[in-house]
Amino acid sequence: MASLNDPLRRIMGDATAKVLASGLNIATVGDLLRHYPRRYAERGVLTPLNELVVDDYVTVMAEVAKVDVVPMRQRKGKMVKVVVTDGSGKLHLTFFNQQWRVKQLSPGMRGLFAGKVGVFRGQRQLTNPQTQLLEDEGDAYDESMLTGLIPVYPATTKFPTWNIAKAVRVALDVADFGDDPLPEEVRARHGLLPLSQALRFVHLPDTFDQVKAAHERLKFEEAFVLQVLLAQRRAAAAAQPATARIAVAGGLRDAFDAQLPFELTAGQQVVSDEIFADLAQTHPMHRLLQGEVGSGKTVVALRAMLTVADSGGQAALLAPTEVLAQQHARTIRTLLGSLGQAGELGSADTATRVALLTGSQGAATRRANLLDAASGAAGIVIGTHALLQENVQFADLGLVVVDEQHRFGVEQRDALRAKGSTPPHVLVMTATPIPRTVAMTVYGDLETSMLTELPAGRAPIQTNVVPVGEKPQWMERVWQRVREEVGQGRQVYVVCPKISGDSTSDDEVEWPADDLLEGDGDKKPRRGAAVEEVEPMLADGPLAGLAVGVLHGRMTSDDKDEVMRRFVDGSLQVLVATTVIEVGVDVPNATVMVVLDADWFGVSQLHQLRGRVGRGEHAGLCLLVTSTDAGTEARERLDGVASTLDGVALARLDLEQRREGDVLGVVQSGRRSSLRLLKLLRDEDTIADARDEATRLIDLDPTLSAHDGLVAAVHELVDTDRADYLEKT
Ligand code: ADP
Ligand code: MG
Repeated sequence: MASLNDPLRRIMGDATAKVLASGLNIATVGDLLRHYPRRYAERGVLTPLNELVVDDYVTVMAEVAKVDVVPMRQRKGKMVKVVVTDGSGKLHLTFFNQQWRVKQLSPGMRGLFAGKVGVFRGQRQLTNPQTQLLEDEGDAYDESMLTGLIPVYPATTKFPTWNIAKAVRVALDVADFGDDPLPEEVRARHGLLPLSQALRFVHLPDTFDQVKAAHERLKFEEAFVLQVLLAQRRAAAAAQPATARIAVAGGLRDAFDAQLPFELTAGQQVVSDEIFADLAQTHPMHRLLQGEVGSGKTVVALRAMLTVADSGGQAALLAPTEVLAQQHARTIRTLLGSLGQAGELGSADTATRVALLTGSQGAATRRANLLDAASGAAGIVIGTHALLQENVQFADLGLVVVDEQHRFGVEQRDALRAKGSTPPHVLVMTATPIPRTVAMTVYGDLETSMLTELPAGRAPIQTNVVPVGEKPQWMERVWQRVREEVGQGRQVYVVCPKISGDSTSDDEVEWPADDLLEGDGDKKPRRGAAVEEVEPMLADGPLAGLAVGVLHGRMTSDDKDEVMRRFVDGSLQVLVATTVIEVGVDVPNATVMVVLDADWFGVSQLHQLRGRVGRGEHAGLCLLVTSTDAGTEARERLDGVASTLDGVALARLDLEQRREGDVLGVVQSGRRSSLRLLKLLRDEDTIADARDEATRLIDLDPTLSAHDGLVAAVHELVDTDRADYLEKT
């Protein structure tokens, strides 16, 4: 017997073990048994040959139609040319110097043929494919071919699917499956197979019903192990001590509420109450606040921060960019008014101070702000990554707020948390809408709150695609529209994917994945509009006479702050910028956004970007300028963004275009993902059930003392990259 952790070498030859390790990353008996077939061929059912994609490595079941031997033209020797068929479509097989194939293959025979699809003279063909005829005898594989379904594995040229099938069979015969990671009661409640049975059915099924039952069980297991890990983390967090933070009646928060210039939305009320209840607990809050762009998360966070300041503690607000940190400081200081000016003339008794810490502040400013943080004079400390530095100290850090959470890793969140003498409460905020299942998985160790409605009186944003490839004259109309808007006292953003013509990267721009760029079949890098070229072009051309400014990540923090200030106070009418304005920038008077080369950006990014306009009483307009052709994938993406304002629908669209591994951050690192069958978008019910079961189990048996198999599975998960990614969220 061999345990699932044993190296493959224990049960098969060195050579085989090596090929499996190098080609498919399969090192242990367990790895091999978790290498599931990609699909199943039915005996007698031929693979449709017309659907083969050039350059794919394929395994097809087909029937030999014709065998010819022809001399090679350029060299000595012969080649065997074979045509195989699925009954209608054809595929050519060419064997060089393998004349014995003539004896092996004859018309009417059926078998599996594996290789990379190439094209020769307009015909698809496999060159020197590996073959496995159904009639071959004395082969361990035959038995399964004769009876049930034939598993087709992800394979390599060196090690075709039938060799994998043979190896799997050996493993199934000798494996000791150990303690099942899925407890018996859980299996019983959901009608799931035991592990050994599921692995047999997935590899050696007689029927598709068996495959289905196996998949259900294996999928549930993937979801369950992950949810157990998350439930453990929630439990561990709940067991930590924290200081309860409760607002004083008639204190700072009450004073702030009394002077708030607008009514809170119902959603803001509900979410605030959830947060206040958490803050009043003696264990730390870990809450995710999700809310559409413009839903008013800042004021919710501010009321939480004031609650902590009220009780004598401090709150830190971490923002991903300098522009955003500066804006938060400006907004919060304005909203607080004299309540944020403790120590200054005319401030209220209850007042506190707001400190700002960014990377490139002048030394004197920085020293003053550091002092305010360390002494406790500042109840609210706002900053970028600069907040995380060692010399930043707090008198009593009670709450950490992380804005635009997806921009930070957990190390950063933790670095800030560590500055509290007791574990502070944590509120993370994101405007990137997350489908429920992804939230349950990727953010599963956080409680979540949602802001769904926008503040009343918001006019919706209209989005149009401007196809300049087909209609170049429309560009003129775009700039005319910009002038009209400015003429009415409004302001405009012009967004470019690049800073300068020669720049190939920009730390604040998220470049679309290669596959997005290549989606149109247009693989040459396109030039992409650049801020430093577009600004003079506009200022001397179609927007001559308007006050045009630029903003991008390579400017110094003082310059950025200055430009944003001038845009906020209206002295700049047009801002030509990179995606530095993507997150959180809030200028209600800005109503039009022109995105140049919009196809350079991803779906969620465009949705975020357009959230910068239509934030006030005036309707917003977003123009997505592109030179891509109608019907291309890139163009469909833009049409998708233009067709809906539903961030969740767009997030789905975004996710559907990526592979599951990418969603979870397992980017081709060579390590195996433990999500093999589970699909986050499709398997919502499974994930929800698994979460319930996991929570129930951890409540009953927090250390999993009676569940060795599960403990092992959770450990293995923690070892994978995916867990690394979970750490980062
Ligand atoms: P986001 O959730 O995208 O971070 P913000 O917090 O920046 O949104 O809020 C967007 C704008 O809406 C800000 O100008 C803010 O002052 C305003 N706002 C927030 N809540 C309300 C409300 N209840 N009524 C009216 N305006 C509001
Ligand atoms: Mg925001």
